[in-house]
Amino acid sequence: MRSSHPLRARPIVIGVAEACLRCGVCCAVETHFCHVQFEEEFDERYTYVYHCLSTPDPASNQGIWLCTACHKCEEVCPYETSPLRFIEAAKAEAYKRGLAPRLLTGIIAQITSTGYLFPITPSTVRRRAELGLKPLTTEAAEELRQIALKTGLTEPRGEP
Ligand code: SF4
Ligand code: SF4
Repeated sequence: MRSSHPLRARPIVIGVAEACLRCGVCCAVETHFCHVQFEEEFDERYTYVYHCLSTPDPASNQGIWLCTACHKCEEVCPYETSPLRFIEAAKAEAYKRGLAPRLLTGIIAQITSTGYLFPITPSTVRRRAELGLKPLTTEAAEELRQIALKTGLTEPRGEP
């Protein structure tokens, strides 16, 4: 069977949510905390991981974007549940549905169009010259565009 790309595959890993026993180790037990647990809206009875796993439409839950994919929850879960797998699938679905934060889509557009995370402004060019640094090139941008296309991160542009 042909395997489809994760960004295009049916993504929400419902089984992961079902496998969580709400023991609280990943968020409610000090020293095992997911750092997002420090957000005010979460406490021991309503942890960040519960929040991600129990939202009816996980892809539209903006809270998923607080996860930094540190893998801590996955490593400490005594039941080998992986909230991260679920959250990443929800992010992929959100991205596909146009629900990803504009900050993120803007960064992707910036990187795939220039090859750099930050805009190259006339001031950047001038300052580099003053410091005796080589001029920046945008050769990597085309490679990044190809990678983004092949991984499903960006869609092919339509014919003019
Ligand atoms: S992977 Fe995400 S949910 Fe898990 S501990 Fe890290 S930030 Fe928290
Ligand atoms: S993901 Fe694991 S550690 Fe976290 S609450 Fe569920 S069962 Fe417990």
